[in-house]
Amino acid sequence: MTLDKLDRKHFGKDQTIFTEGDAGNCAYIIESGEVEIMHSNASGEQRLSLLQAGELFGEVALLDLHPRTASARTTQDSVLIQIERHLVQELLERSDPILRHLLQVILERFRNNPAHDVPHGSSARQTQDNEASRRELQGAATQKLAMAHGITRALNQNEFEMYYQPICDLKDDSVAGFEALIRWHHPTEGMIPPMDFLWLAEQTGQIRQLGLWTLERASRDWARLRGMTQHPQPFVSVNLSARQLTGDNLVEDVKAIIARHKMPPESLKLELTETVMVEQPALAMNILSRLIELGFQLALDDYGTGYSGLDNLQRYPIGTLKLDRAFVAPMLTSKQSLEIVRSSIALAHTLGMSVVAEGIETRETRDALAELGCDYGQGWLFGKPLPLV
Ligand code: C2E
Ligand code: CA
Ligand code: CA
Repeated sequence: MTLDKLDRKHFGKDQTIFTEGDAGNCAYIIESGEVEIMHSNASGEQRLSLLQAGELFGEVALLDLHPRTASARTTQDSVLIQIERHLVQELLERSDPILRHLLQVILERFRNNPAHDVPHGSSARQTQDNEASRRELQGAATQKLAMAHGITRALNQNEFEMYYQPICDLKDDSVAGFEALIRWHHPTEGMIPPMDFLWLAEQTGQIRQLGLWTLERASRDWARLRGMTQHPQPFVSVNLSARQLTGDNLVEDVKAIIARHKMPPESLKLELTETVMVEQPALAMNILSRLIELGFQLALDDYGTGYSGLDNLQRYPIGTLKLDRAFVAPMLTSKQSLEIVRSSIALAHTLGMSVVAEGIETRETRDALAELGCDYGQGWLFGKPLPLV
C-alpha cells in the first residue's frame, strides 16, 4: 500500500468528517489543512486535539467495527488522504496471527479504558468497578495471547493429535467411514478438547494452519483407516471452519495434500456448517462447486442448529446431511425432536442427500433412526473417537 495509490478528499472550512457514533470504516492522514477532534460528555463538547498536516486520525476503525468515539471536523480548507478499512484488512489477513492478535488485544484495552469513556464527576464507586473490569479484561486478553502462542508452539512441536470416530451404515451397523476430530495434548494442561481452543484459532486466523494440519493428517492416515472398513464407498470426514473454506487456496491445498498421499478424492468428505453459505453465498457456491468437480464429497454439519432451512441450502452441491446431536439424543423423549428428525430425513432424501445422525448413544435411538430410514449413524453406541495406535 503506497500513499499515492490512496484517495484524496477535499474538505472546506468547518466541514464535518465524521461524527461520534458513526460507523467507522476508514482512517485519514492530513495532507494539508487542520482538523479538530471533538468529544462530547456531560458538560458538553470538548476539543480533544487539533491535528496538523502529516497526522493520522480515525485509525481505530481500521481494526474493528465499533462506532466512532469522537467527532472530526476541519478548521480550514483541508486535503485528507483516506485509508479504507478493507485495504488494511487484506494486509492484516496476510500478517502473522500473533501480531494480529496482539493488535486486537491492544485495541480491546483501548476500547475498555475507563479514562477514555468515563465522564467527569462519575462516582468513585463507578471508577472502581471500571478498574476491576479493566483488570479482568486485561487478564483475559493476556490469557488469550498465551493460548494463541501455545497453539503455534503445539503445531511446531506435534502436540496435536487426530482421533477418529466410526460412522456406521444403519443397514447392518458396519463401519462406513470415520470422522477426524482434533485433540490437543498440552504439556501441562493435559488434553484440551477442540471447543476450548478452536474459537481462538478462528479469531487469530491460526485455524488456516490448523486446518491444513488436519487435512494432511487425515490423508496420511487414510491408508490405515481404509483397511478398517469393508464398505464399498469408504470415507474420512474432516471438519472445515468457515474461515478455512473462504481463505486463500483451499482448493489447491486440498488437491495437493491428497495427491501427496495418493488418496482418491471421493474418499475425503469435507464437513462444513451453513454459516458460510448464509454469510457468503456466492463465494461458498464457487468453492464448493470446484471441490465437487474435483471429486470430493461434502457434508452439511450440525444441521438443525443454524438459522436457515434445508430448502435454502439445497442449491449447494452437498451430498450428506448431518443431523445434530441436540435433536438425535432426545428424539425418544421429546416429540418435537422426533418430528425434526423425521422431517429432516424425509426432506434430505427428497433432495437426494444421505443422512448421518450424530450422537447415537443407545440401541433404542439407533433402531428408531433406522426405522425412519436414516442412512448412517455416529455416536458412542458405535464407538468413541480414538487415536490410531
Ligand atoms: P462436531 O463436528 O459436531 O463433532 C461431533 C462431536 O460430538 C465430537 O466432539 C464428538 O466427540 C462428539 N460426539 C460424538 N458422538 C457422541 C455421543 O454419542 N455423545 C456425545 N455426548 N458426544 C458425541 P469433539 O471431538 O469434542 O468436537 C467438538 C467440535 O469441535 C466438533 O463438533 C467440531 O465442530 C469441532 N472440531 C473437532 N475437530 C475439528 C477439526 O479438526 N477441525 C475443525 N475445524 N473443527 C473441529
Ligand atoms: Ca463434524
Ligand atoms: Ca456435528
